Amino acid sequence: MIEQKIKAAIRDVHDFPKPGIIFKDVTTILQDHQLCQEILDAFVERAQGMHIDAVAGVESRGFLFGLMIAMKLGVPFIPVRKAGKLPFTVKRKVYELEYGTATIELHTDAFTPGSNVLIHDDLLATGGTVTATSELIKEMGGHIAGFSFVVGLSFLKGEEKISPISDNIVVLAN
Ligand code: 5GP
Repeated sequence: MIEQKIKAAIRDVHDFPKPGIIFKDVTTILQDHQLCQEILDAFVERAQGMHIDAVAGVESRGFLFGLMIAMKLGVPFIPVRKAGKLPFTVKRKVYELEYGTATIELHTDAFTPGSNVLIHDDLLATGGTVTATSELIKEMGGHIAGFSFVVGLSFLKGEEKISPISDNIVVLAN
């Protein structure tokens, strides 16, 4: 089962980036090219029927599988970046974190208005990042086709937060 393989491949790093936090390190998955292929195949299979016109990947680990999914589906890839990284004109969204705020940006010409966009990230925690991403995409004239993640931290109830936006939610390992 892919879920077991992903769980076995992920490394828990204690006290990163702050004391008391157990960080799920997904870089260890990248050492196993066969598992990466299985993950990609699983995403592409689950994307069938979602009518996806573009894939948005969230900086930076959402770029890893996000671009590959887009290439397999034969659609454009949209990089969702943190503030100040994109060189052309941008639209931005400021959103709340537990302490403080964060900002994400998209190029103003990142996708064609009316596109059905799949939002992809490595990990779903509270759902705040992908909710902000979906709001920005909608403000720019896009529709949300669904969400996909390699890992979900189910105890943080991110799926409950994002399910009103789209009920096409793929989480390969919880
Ligand atoms: P959320 O906005 O859902 O609370 O947090 C998800 C975002 O934070 C994602 O962009 C994800 O990459 C990052 N993130 C939060 N915790 C972890 C973690 O334990 N491991 C990894 N790989 N990413 C995390």
